[in-house]
Amino acid sequence: MKRNYKPTIYVKDIYSINYKKLKDNHIKYLLFDLDNTICDNKTKVLPVKAYDLFNTLKKENFTIIIISNSWYFRVRRFTKKLKVQGYSFALKPFTNVYKKIIKKNNINIQEMAAIGDQIYTDIIGANKMNITSVLVDRISNKESILTKINRIRENQLLKKRAIIRRGVYDE
Ligand SMILES: [Mg+2]
Repeated sequence: MKRNYKPTIYVKDIYSINYKKLKDNHIKYLLFDLDNTICDNKTKVLPVKAYDLFNTLKKENFTIIIISNSWYFRVRRFTKKLKVQGYSFALKPFTNVYKKIIKKNNINIQEMAAIGDQIYTDIIGANKMNITSVLVDRISNKESILTKINRIRENQLLKKRAIIRRGVYDE
């Protein structure tokens, strides 16, 4: 199967996403990656700005779900604070986690958008499922070894193919 690396939307960060437009397109479920999407890898406390954003989104009737390849205890810290569903050790880009979410919430793929900072996990995973995929720039360059390897691949990919141009955002 040919891999689809291209995000549906590319924006600077989670604060730059046009959530109204997503809503107009009938999207109700927002699947957020955690590390380097919501906060940097080392942060243990949810940034106030993110907390406010998620509360606003909840008021707008979006359902927030955090899907992270990180560990249970790290993810739980954030989902507990936000009172949202969370999936740790999600193994993106494998699609099991998305299927689990669809089944548990009894939702359609068309109602979901997945937001993340990595093409090789967040974007490929969502694209495999035909979920609207939103790429954001990473918050920090402090990353795990695995992510660093993914970044090398990502940079090579972006050099080879005009998928996105860093810093040239969609909206
Ligand atoms: Mg990430």
